[in-house]
Amino acid sequence: MIPLEKWFSDIKKKIIVAGPCSVESPTQLLTTAQEISSIKNVQVFRAGIWKPRTRPHTFQGIGVKGLPWLYQVKKNYGLKIMTEVATSEQVIQCLKYKVDMLWIGAKTTTDPLAVQAIADALQGVDIPIWIKNPVIPDIYLWMGALERIQMAGLKKIGLIFRGFFPTTPTKYRNTPNWDMIRKFKKKNPLLPVLIDPSHMAGKASYISTIMEQYVREDINGWMIECHYQPKQALSDASQQVTPQTLQKLLSHFL
Ligand code: PEP
Ligand code: MN
Repeated sequence: MIPLEKWFSDIKKKIIVAGPCSVESPTQLLTTAQEISSIKNVQVFRAGIWKPRTRPHTFQGIGVKGLPWLYQVKKNYGLKIMTEVATSEQVIQCLKYKVDMLWIGAKTTTDPLAVQAIADALQGVDIPIWIKNPVIPDIYLWMGALERIQMAGLKKIGLIFRGFFPTTPTKYRNTPNWDMIRKFKKKNPLLPVLIDPSHMAGKASYISTIMEQYVREDINGWMIECHYQPKQALSDASQQVTPQTLQKLLSHFL
């Protein structure tokens, strides 16, 4: 495995990823990116092109036509770009548009055939990839996904912890379970870990409480959902923060 500080010349041991849940329109994407680009310490812009949503009548993602807009973010604002992949075709499209890093979503991590298809498409490709924990707390699904990606020859792999779907209702959307990530880290000490407080919280106002819980742990950074008009977001509207709030959170916790 290659340690995080060797992935890019301008990223050391800490990495901050921010951006909207979904790519929605050129204005939404570029305005959000412009505002984020002025925040110190944010190096990477995230935005979902394809959204594996739970319910079919919700926004399913803009699809491939959003990739040139994402590429524009990289060109205009100097941020690295990152998106979620769930199929081999999506991997191929991302490589075409020079996406800097990929992530596998929590739903996809539960599906070994989907992870294998992604791994097959990445065979021989040198791109960093992050694997979110599966929605259910089965450590073997997470390990299996990691092994499939490693077996494809990838050496720049990270983990994103976004909590687990709660079996009994809690105030958080996804339950933080630090024990499992500790166990996982112990087995894989070279893998960087990002915390995604947005998907744990489900609500923008809970994000800072969650960050508080993790800030003193041995983590490599954060992935935080940020939209220039959170209330208008087409997905995960209640958990996205404005760039101004993001700046405040980061200045408090970094
Ligand atoms: C996301 O990052 O927008 C997303 C859908 O996350 P998860 O896979 O953690 O639910
Ligand atoms: Mn989201």
